[in-house]
Amino acid sequence: MTQSAPHREYTDRVATGSLPYQSCDGCLSAVFPPRVICPFCGATDLSWRESAGLGTVYSASVIAPRDAEPYSVVLVDLDERFRIMSTVVDLPARDVRIGMRVRAGVDPDGPTGPRVVFTPEEREAAS
Ligand SMILES: [Zn+2]
Repeated sequence: MTQSAPHREYTDRVATGSLPYQSCDGCLSAVFPPRVICPFCGATDLSWRESAGLGTVYSASVIAPRDAEPYSVVLVDLDERFRIMSTVVDLPARDVRIGMRVRAGVDPDGPTGPRVVFTPEEREAAS
């Protein structure tokens, strides 16, 4: 199968509940968002992997629409060494902190279809 539509492949995989990314067979870099060519070495052999979904908030901001609840926009660095733009749910947007550990999940009812969202990971430390 050729990777003529990496983004389509990505959204199909998200719809099944995973956080997919690509790994370059040439230089072993994690590649995200999905591409046809590795941005680091130019190789075209990119393999799909599934992230464990654990990461750290790299940056966070609050969006406050006039007619809706405020929500966070975050950049999360996944442990597999790629970065994704997303949002943190189950937590007031103003409480999202840089450096916070988060876990990925899939929101099946995103504005444009299933999307990856994050929830705070802290609470698991108590168990
Ligand atoms: Zn590469």
